[in-house]
Amino acid sequence: RDEMLRNSEKLSVVGQLAAGVAHEIRNPLTALKGFIQLMLHSNQQVPKYLDIMKEELERIELIVSELLVLSKPQSLQLKSMNLKDLAEEVMALIGTQAIMNNIEIVLIAEQDHYPVYCDPNQIKQIIINFLKNSIEAMKKGGVIKIQLTDEASTEYIVLSIEDQGSGIPEELLSRLGEPFFTTKEGGTGLGLMISHKIIEQHGGQFFVTSKLKEGTRVEVRFPLPT
Ligand code: ADP
Ligand code: MG
Repeated sequence: RDEMLRNSEKLSVVGQLAAGVAHEIRNPLTALKGFIQLMLHSNQQVPKYLDIMKEELERIELIVSELLVLSKPQSLQLKSMNLKDLAEEVMALIGTQAIMNNIEIVLIAEQDHYPVYCDPNQIKQIIINFLKNSIEAMKKGGVIKIQLTDEASTEYIVLSIEDQGSGIPEELLSRLGEPFFTTKEGGTGLGLMISHKIIEQHGGQFFVTSKLKEGTRVEVRFPLPT
């Protein structure tokens, strides 16, 4: 009976997600259809409409490509990896974007090796998602601290990302990870939901603490390899 319950819960989550996707994609599609109709009736404004049409298509593309990550878990490729290497690779990937925003990313790790059994691409994906959110929240620049710890007393390795951004109002904290919840113009509100899903598949957990106007700290806990 438990299993049945869990299955129906899953179905309702899928249903909610499908409803959200349909809604999010219908808006740009309606806009596109409207512009095509306009273009059929006039040929003067075509270049202007094409610009907006391209933007709407890019929005659909972004939503669909973010959702594709969710359909990948079947092909989770687990390997023994060093979390420190993954963090460094992501820092190199996102370095230019940070510099352009006056942001310095620092990595604090006492050891050279932080073993995790994981799909490296998926873990890089979540670190990118968190760092992007931090960069987007730090309009005035500043420092983002990535820290790795594995205390002997705990059964997990912790990766934390701490920013000096806008922070998150307390009343919104509980909505994080809800599909399509975003406070950004042009945001998809899918990044945290996808990250949550990936962390869950790795047997991990994540926590967000935040103080308005001071910054946000995301803590990801990975189980120690056995
Ligand atoms: P998106 O980035 O597309 O909005 P996310 O799922 O990545 O979607 O994030 C959802 C929301 O959570 C953001 O719109 C923002 O309001 C809030 N948020 C997430 N991370 C941070 C952060 N580091 N600082 C401030 N707000 C954040
Ligand atoms: Mg995001």
